[in-house]
Amino acid sequence: MDIRLGNGFDVHAFGTGDHVTLCGVHIPFDRGLTGHSDADVGLHALTDALFGALAEGDIGQWFPPSDPQWKGAASHLFLEKAVERVAARGFQIANLDLTLVCEAPKIGPHAAAMRAEVAGLAGITLDRISIKATTSERLGFTGREEGIAALATAALVSA
Ligand code: MG
Repeated sequence: MDIRLGNGFDVHAFGTGDHVTLCGVHIPFDRGLTGHSDADVGLHALTDALFGALAEGDIGQWFPPSDPQWKGAASHLFLEKAVERVAARGFQIANLDLTLVCEAPKIGPHAAAMRAEVAGLAGITLDRISIKATTSERLGFTGREEGIAALATAALVSA
């Protein structure tokens, strides 16, 4: 059996706005996240974890920020491309694990909705998807509430 692991990391800064989109879930908030796409830091980290497991580059290579077609893009497009590549290469996603690092908004109340969203996009069952959250104890940029960081791990097995 061929087993592949990949990791992904992403950061987006807070800017003006009235909501953030995390793992495809709309969360009302007093700021938004800035970025070329919809700045869904969770889906970006998961996408990079899948590309990493396949050793097929990163999200910036697949979807260059310099390309205007990705401006304001819904990030499910990015994850769907990575999932498509997993299947094309003859793998299945064994599990996905995501950690969101922020002081606010609170992730817990939305984690179930995020898992459901990711399960739909990845085509795997809920028990294979973990969405966790932590703070950085008020330290650093996440501690100062300047933005959100996300770390993801993906495991693939040969189909
Ligand atoms: Mg990003």
